[in-house]
Amino acid sequence: MRAQTTAATSRPFPTRREPHQTRGATLAHVLAAAERELSACGIDTARIDAEVLLADALGIDRTALYVRLANVPSTAQRAAFRQRLTRRTSREPIAYIIGKQEFWSLEFAVEPGVLIPRPETELVVETGLGLFDSHDTAAPRITDVGTGSGCIVIALATELPHAQFWAMDRSLAALTIARRNARLHGVATRIGLWCGDLLDAVAGRSGFDLIVTNPPYVARPCLDRGAGLAPEVRDWEPRAALDGGPDGLDYYRRLLGSRPRNGIDHLRTGGWFVAEIGYDQQSAVRALADERRDLSFVRCVQDYAGRDRVVVFRKTP
Ligand code: GLN
Repeated sequence: MRAQTTAATSRPFPTRREPHQTRGATLAHVLAAAERELSACGIDTARIDAEVLLADALGIDRTALYVRLANVPSTAQRAAFRQRLTRRTSREPIAYIIGKQEFWSLEFAVEPGVLIPRPETELVVETGLGLFDSHDTAAPRITDVGTGSGCIVIALATELPHAQFWAMDRSLAALTIARRNARLHGVATRIGLWCGDLLDAVAGRSGFDLIVTNPPYVARPCLDRGAGLAPEVRDWEPRAALDGGPDGLDYYRRLLGSRPRNGIDHLRTGGWFVAEIGYDQQSAVRALADERRDLSFVRCVQDYAGRDRVVVFRKTP
């Protein structure tokens, strides 16, 4: 009797398993546990991130996930989800993990090495589009400087079927992704992609009707200190796409400055320059443009947070 009791009590105490750890854990359990794990890492979009990663691991979209929440995932599905979750806990951006990002209601392929398209950059597209009459059959010549994933130029190309496009980037990795995206959206034959610094690759051409750009504009000291930047941006996105030099203005200086043929000289008289800027850079960028006589400020567009985001200039005689 006694021995039996001892044997019974000395049996290793079974560790309590959380619902998501049991073999029969449903997708709802797995999702709730992932949300807790991501929150604990300081991610404030934990729920939606968990849903996006789980849907991606299962190869379905989020709506399909909602109707399957009572299902029990297979071992392979759990492993696929775990792999994605681990990447996210090290603050890798969701877009790199699932390999895509929506922009202008289009899906863009992204990979580490290319800046992830931001919603506020849609304002560059919107502002650029506003300059053309969609019924006009003239073929405007448009160029995108520092195209990255190609999101701006591809969005414009899908909206302006008569226009001709050029897009430049120093990064071959970015251009490879831009080409993939241009094919994906059926506009590859209308966009010339060129590798080079600023407009160097099209140095022989001028007379563009529009130059659009979202250049690197973060001040280098901010990047170095990581001040005001999310770990996703600071630790994962390509520095070359963010680093705007000591005061963040290097690229505007080179595009707008009075040194000849560095950017604006490629515009025709009456042509437009539309650029994304940092929220505190409007006056500095306007001051640079004021240094030359052939450029007039048209307007500054605010983003949805009410912050300065896009500037528009026009080339005058
Ligand atoms: N808007 C980006 C950010 O979140 C900066 C992009 C850029 O430098 N063009 O930091």
